[in-house]
Amino acid sequence: MKIAGGCHCGAVRYEINGEALTHALCHCSDCRRHSGAPMVAWAMFPADAVKTTKGTTKTYASSADGRRYFCADCGTGLFYTNAAILPGITDVQSATFDDPNVLPAHAHIQTAERIGWMEAAHDLPMFERYPPQN
Ligand SMILES: [Zn+2]
Ligand SMILES: [Zn+2]
Repeated sequence: MKIAGGCHCGAVRYEINGEALTHALCHCSDCRRHSGAPMVAWAMFPADAVKTTKGTTKTYASSADGRRYFCADCGTGLFYTNAAILPGITDVQSATFDDPNVLPAHAHIQTAERIGWMEAAHDLPMFERYPPQN
């Protein structure tokens, strides 16, 4: 499949030409702390399927072999690689796809590190916009 995406400010754009190997919602503490969000959705592709088409990412070593690639202007996290654990693979933060609905997630991973209340997050009251003001 062909997927385009990029960061919030538009300085970095990428294109994917290939099939996703998996697509998972990661609850690990590294993803949480780097993103500032309860979890991160990762779509995994062969590295040569993912090309940056505009701008350049900044790289952060979030662990011994883990590398996180983000836009230095707006901070959006885009890619992850790990030459030791995932050689030849690029993980893409699928929420940065132009159309994030194009590829549904298949699983939750690293739930051993999940925030406790996230297990039942889908049971919380839902509002199309904001709760009614009284
Ligand atoms: Zn940006
Ligand atoms: Zn993670």
